Amino acid sequence: MESIWTSELVQNLARLWDEGHSTAEIGRRLGVSKNAVVGKAHRLALTPRPSPLKRPPLRRPAAPAVATGSGSCSWPTGHPGDKDFGFCGKRTLAGKPYCAEHAAMAYVRPKNHNAA
Ligand SMILES: [Zn+2]
Repeated sequence: MESIWTSELVQNLARLWDEGHSTAEIGRRLGVSKNAVVGKAHRLALTPRPSPLKRPPLRRPAAPAVATGSGSCSWPTGHPGDKDFGFCGKRTLAGKPYCAEHAAMAYVRPKNHNAA
């Protein structure tokens, strides 16, 4: 499975990686798949770097405005400063500052798009 990785190719991979090229670009230059680049870089323990594709921030309130236990959902509705700004106010889930609907929105995990 590793037969494509000649020492020269590995050196080129490390150099292009250090130069900050994207994995897709490195793969294009080396004539291998992006996945092969990612996998090899991982096995070589090359310095991880942040993905160039930044996920947009999750839409969620900065902090619960009301302490848990009040019994009413503290999910903000509307926009701060608007006259209709307020809080959801529905019954909360046990141990959560939000109602079922808003807890699902607040605690949803982003799907892992990088899974191989
Ligand atoms: Zn709510």
